[in-house]
Formats: sequence, structure tokens, C-alpha cells
Amino acid sequence: MSLEGAGPRRRRIVAGNWKMHFLAAEATGFCHELLRGLASVGLSAHTEVGSPEVVLFPSFPLLPAVAAALAGSEVAMGAQDLHPADRGAHTGDVSGPQVLDAGCRWVLCGHSERRRDHAESDELVAHKVAAAVRHGLAPLLCVGETREQREAGETLAVLERQLLSGLSPLASRPAAVGEVPAGAAAGEHAGLVIAYEPVWAIGTGLTASPETAQEAHQFLRATAAGLAGEGVPVTLLYGGSVTPANAAGLIAQPDVDGFLVGGASLDPRQFLAIIACSG
Ligand code: PEP
Repeated sequence: MSLEGAGPRRRRIVAGNWKMHFLAAEATGFCHELLRGLASVGLSAHTEVGSPEVVLFPSFPLLPAVAAALAGSEVAMGAQDLHPADRGAHTGDVSGPQVLDAGCRWVLCGHSERRRDHAESDELVAHKVAAAVRHGLAPLLCVGETREQREAGETLAVLERQLLSGLSPLASRPAAVGEVPAGAAAGEHAGLVIAYEPVWAIGTGLTASPETAQEAHQFLRATAAGLAGEGVPVTLLYGGSVTPANAAGLIAQPDVDGFLVGGASLDPRQFLAIIACSG
């Protein structure tokens, strides 16, 4: 299915995952440079004019500074995590209502660094997706295999398990994601947004080849479509050592709809270059 083909219109999205980087002043400076850069190359980060949607995922303490710096722009903000519960005795955690209140429209769910550092299970990730949707946040579900899993020929089985589990809260009502307004033009179905992030490619410089990414994306699209049904667009981002040098080859693949960018999203010029080739 091409972007222009039959079926629900898919989105182009370029997201920056800042991880545990930046202090508030640096984050503000980045946002100002990003907005200047978007304006100077005629990109508005607005889906209606054919530019990719742009989303930044700062760490929690940076959210107020980033929200202020992005105010009035089309660049959206997301949280890197949330707790499944709405409130309560969960020291150090952050709830959906809190990140929504801080100005987030998106939330990362199941990033491999959280699966690794915090032993997040598929089941916990599913609870986080459910909480995001419950609070009107758009979940960006991350899936991806480790190097060992790829070498053992388990890639597609891992992707299927993570995807079906992560989306299981939506299985009984996939249209629920369409109620999430994040970034969607008026009347448009927001749909599912999934990032394929092979763990072996994250922060290593070992980007997946366009063919490897396409193979995974094609599989994820078919698997997600079986769950989401006909009218729900599925947007698939690739993540893993994306740079301006490899983005064009990846985005040229029919099932790559955008990027989740880590390291290169810390440099506004690199991030802008990736956005520019993703429209
Ligand atoms: C990420 O952490 O989501 C990521 C893709 O990182 P990097 O681009 O640095 O590989």
C-alpha cells in the first residue's frame, strides 16, 4: 500500500527521543533553532501541507520549558514514559494526567531501553498503552528484536508478540485510538503509530538496511492491520541510528512512514535534515 494508494491516509512523522539529555536552557535553545529551521526551509511540521508531523520526547523535568518554547507551533511534545495508574503511591513515577497536564499529546510505550533498564514486560507495556489511550494521549508503541533474537531467526516472532501484546488493550475496540486527537487533521483518524526499533541498531551506528527495515515494516503493517481493521491507518516509524546520511534510503521504502530518532535528534541541524527528507 502506498501513501497515495487506496485505504486510510497514512501519516509522516519524525519524532526525536532525547532520552536523558539536555538541561532546560539547552532544550529551549534547541526548540528555538528547530522552529527557525523549519520556517526557513518552508516546513511547518503540519500534516495538511505535506510536511511530516514533528514530535519531541524530552525527559520529564524539561517538559515545561519545551512546552513554553513550542507554544503556538505545530511541533508536538510527548513523554518518554507513564505509569499505568492514574494516581497513587508510586514514588518516582509519572501519570498520564500529569504528562497531559504538562502539554504532552504523545507518550512512548515499550522503548527497548525501558524494557532493558526497568525490566518492562510486554504485559506492563500493554497497561501503559491502555493508560495512554484512556487519557487521550497517543501511544507510540516501540517494538524490536535484539541481535541474539535476529541471529536465532526469531525476529518476526518477537515483533508479532510485542505488537499483539502492546496493542491488546485496543483489540476489543481498535477505533479507540481514533479518538486520540494527537496530530490528526480535523475529521481524520489518528490511527496506530508504531516504531520498529531493532535493539542492535539503537545508538550503535548499525542502522538497519532499507531492505531489512522494509521487511520488518511490511510484516508489522500486515499484523497490525489484522487487528486494527480496514479504516484505521497504521503509521510505522523506523528507529535505530537514523542520520541525515541514511534517512533518504529508509524513507524511500514503501512501508517506512517516518522516524524515531535518538542521537541525531540532539543536533537541530541533523534533526532538521532528517525532517526535510521525510516530507
Ligand atoms: C531511540 O532510542 O529511539 C533511537 C532510535 O536511538 P538512536 O537514533 O540513537 O539509535
